[in-house]
Amino acid sequence: MSLFTRAGSALFDLLAPLECAACGQPAAHGYCGDCRRLLVAAPARDLEGVPVLAAAAYAAPLDAAIHRYKYGSRPDLAGALAGLLPRAALAGASGDARTLFVPVPLHRSRLAERGYDQSALLASALAARAGRPASARALCRTRPTAQQARLDERGRAQNVLGAFSAGGGTALAQRPVVLVDDVVTTGATARACVHTLRAAGARVVAVACVASTPR
Ligand SMILES: [Zn+2]
Repeated sequence: MSLFTRAGSALFDLLAPLECAACGQPAAHGYCGDCRRLLVAAPARDLEGVPVLAAAAYAAPLDAAIHRYKYGSRPDLAGALAGLLPRAALAGASGDARTLFVPVPLHRSRLAERGYDQSALLASALAARAGRPASARALCRTRPTAQQARLDERGRAQNVLGAFSAGGGTALAQRPVVLVDDVVTTGATARACVHTLRAAGARVVAVACVASTPR
């Protein structure tokens, strides 16, 4: 385990909020009982033959939690959200000790706006739980892209076409990779990242996310 991953793990423990990630009422373990009961099992799906591992369906109360995490200046919720993904699913996907957790990258302009990279924090938290390294440099967003949520499916695929590059000093040839994003909806962004990672020689073994929609 890299120093970065271990330090990240300790940091997440320290920062874990004592409130429900979805509704904000007091809760010791990420979610209050009310919200935990509302979590809906994630639909089974895959992207380009890669299984999508999601903690739950993209519905209440998780949609509210993810919104707070991404748009409410709440990077401290990363640990609570990552903690929802079953450890067994993570262990199954990252059985090979060389497995690298790679976040879908933000463009640097978006990073400057938000102040933190939500997928990179999730990737660190998930990698720490799996006892594997994470690298936020293995994928890079080479140009800013419009927000996917504002586009239709075709527009989304166009929007991210050629927007990513792989490598950045990370050896990816033959390397098992778990791609990490906060939410997978149409899958256009994740699909573009899978193509880019494969072109660099990586073996993408799973797409891990907090929530996904049915396909
Ligand atoms: Zn709650």
